[in-house]
Amino acid sequence: MDPLVARGQAVMTPNYRPAPIVLDHGQGVWVWDTEGRRYLDMVSGIAVSALGHNHPDLVASVSRQAGRLLHTSNLYWNQASIELAEALVETSFGDKVFFCSSGAEANEACIKLARRFQWQRDPRRNQILSFRNSFHGRTMGALTATAQPKYHEGFGPLPEGFVYGEVGQDPSELIGSATAAVIVEPVQGEGGVRPVPVSYLQALRARCDEVGALVIVDEVQAGVGRTGDMYAYMASEIRPDLMALAKGVGGGLPLGALVARSEVAEALQPGTHGTTYGGSPIACAGALVVMEAVRSPGFLENVKARGEELLAGLRAIDARRHCFSEVRGRGLMVGADLRPRLGFDAKAIVDGARGQGVLVHVAGPRTLRMVPPLVIESDHVEQALGAVDACIGALLQAG
Ligand code: PLP
Repeated sequence: MDPLVARGQAVMTPNYRPAPIVLDHGQGVWVWDTEGRRYLDMVSGIAVSALGHNHPDLVASVSRQAGRLLHTSNLYWNQASIELAEALVETSFGDKVFFCSSGAEANEACIKLARRFQWQRDPRRNQILSFRNSFHGRTMGALTATAQPKYHEGFGPLPEGFVYGEVGQDPSELIGSATAAVIVEPVQGEGGVRPVPVSYLQALRARCDEVGALVIVDEVQAGVGRTGDMYAYMASEIRPDLMALAKGVGGGLPLGALVARSEVAEALQPGTHGTTYGGSPIACAGALVVMEAVRSPGFLENVKARGEELLAGLRAIDARRHCFSEVRGRGLMVGADLRPRLGFDAKAIVDGARGQGVLVHVAGPRTLRMVPPLVIESDHVEQALGAVDACIGALLQAG
């Protein structure tokens, strides 16, 4: 093992449990560790590296920007952030964009904006509704919206005004005169790769329209091509009021964004919200290349086709090995639940596949997850499936 692992363990907080490898460089869908081993990356830094690693245009754009100006703050305009906001507006329901640096911050901004917008109309309308199995980030507001008790434990007192529902529960039971906004992931990611039915998103939108509540789509993981649509909400044909983006949009650079309808965005008047790094020229320079690639002909078709191959391949593994109780996903956001009483958990597959040169991830203890770079090709999918299959075969035999 690289001695860097022990050095890291000595000085880093123990909240992560990294695999005992140190990644050194990457190319396309491949990454190499410091000991020279090559891995097929089916994780892409948790649904981030949309164009894979070391993409020449992305590297060139970021390098060019780095050589000109790294940082401006929001006291001044910068061209890259204006162009990126234009691209986000052109491709979505939105009219206005606020930039930040992470997914939690993008959700935090959505929650604050929703409350501020409603406060101007009726200050009693301040509740944020979210759904079981959701994940919205780790800052206090986003954490409280994350309707999974395990993430809340020991961090109280949590902010007030958050309520929780189940996907599928009658929206008229959940959304009323106190509801400022509903926040929903069109495909729940961390909570187990669970697509929210299109009809349910439509029902939420209809109920919010009835009572004057806002719809926030958290597309931090699912947005910008990951599901095979430019944005995941598009599959439902609803028009959200607010959208949170991060992860894939930056292609590996730390970037988050709130996208809003202009009427709602008006509530963010000067001084109401901000962040020093929002609209970082360097992050935006990278994101512009991602946006151009995702909008190019055939890109989303590739995501859909490779996603179908992954789903079909996992189902074929189950047909042979009887190991998955459900295989689900949309585009290149794919999960497979292990059947009960198998004698091993999803992490065992992660470790086994890594030993065979393939990086995969989990979404909870019993769900295997794959969120590869969006530029993945068929033979990569085949290789990943082969490794997962072999690994499960070995685990079944050992168990
Ligand atoms: N929202 C969703 C849907 C996510 O999947 C995540 C991260 O996994 C977040 C928000 C938080 O993003 P970040 O880790 O960049 O704060």
